[in-house]
Amino acid sequence: MSFDLHTHSMISDGTEPPAEVVAAAKRAGLRGLALTDHDTTAGWTAAIEAAQALQLVLIPGMEMTTRTDDGISVHLLSYLHDPAHVGLMDAIATARGGRVERAKRICERLAEDFPITWEIVVEHVGPDATIGRPHLADAMVAVGVVADRSEAFAKYLHPGTKYYVSQENITPIEAIRLVRDAGGVPVIAHAMASARGRTVSVPQLEQMVEAGLAGVEVWHRDNPEPGRRLLLDLAARHDLIATGSSDYHGTGKPNRIGENSSPTSVVERIISEATGSPAYGRL
Ligand code: AMP
Ligand code: FE
Ligand code: FE
Ligand code: ZN
Repeated sequence: MSFDLHTHSMISDGTEPPAEVVAAAKRAGLRGLALTDHDTTAGWTAAIEAAQALQLVLIPGMEMTTRTDDGISVHLLSYLHDPAHVGLMDAIATARGGRVERAKRICERLAEDFPITWEIVVEHVGPDATIGRPHLADAMVAVGVVADRSEAFAKYLHPGTKYYVSQENITPIEAIRLVRDAGGVPVIAHAMASARGRTVSVPQLEQMVEAGLAGVEVWHRDNPEPGRRLLLDLAARHDLIATGSSDYHGTGKPNRIGENSSPTSVVERIISEATGSPAYGRL
């Protein structure tokens, strides 16, 4: 009985509508899943309906992009928050607005060297979707500059390139407090993903625990083994939830749905800490 607690649909940078993500979870033999699109809850309704039709459990969620004061990128998963909480919704609306401006600036820089236009980029962004670098990658694939998103990131979209533009984000501490205030359960995604850039220190993680962090995503393909041990140790010392998830993005990434998963006990714990929104379906 397992659950994939980190998946993306076309409502952000996944390649399938929410209902197809749910169907993929069913085919993989999962008991349920969390839909965690970047900085949005717009996919919840469609995912809930699809899960009810397939008798799967659906945990409404999202993934917030945050940045520490010393510039380290932290992705924060939120489960079961109130999608009408004004402070949290303001924060993600601001984040989505900033993402559009940033994507335009990256596009301008890419356009100096490649036949990319904003119109081509926009064609790859789903209706109501949160834009991100994967959509710029899709545009580069469309004009034949690269074969797939992975090549686009490796060559042109990672922070070390001349095309990269950083974004203003709230801090993980601010995001954790907002999520808790909205009745949600905040869990750090792939905290030890060193290939993505600098990762936070244990004291920084402990400050987040102090602020209300509920859990850490341990079993994720981007967390190397020593990082997993560090996270498990942190979880043991502070009684945190330890999750496993795929970070599925449809065909946008090699991650297969259910490749890492969490047991029912983890989902029960998340539900027990949440007051903002129900989980859908019977465990
Ligand atoms: P952004 O939200 O604009 O900062 O873009 C980050 C997103 O790009 C992450 O959420 C990942 O889903 C995606 N991403 C990062 N690295 C890669 C990669 N190598 N291949 C495909 N997608 C990636
Ligand atoms: Fe993503
Ligand atoms: Fe992430
Ligand atoms: Zn993710």
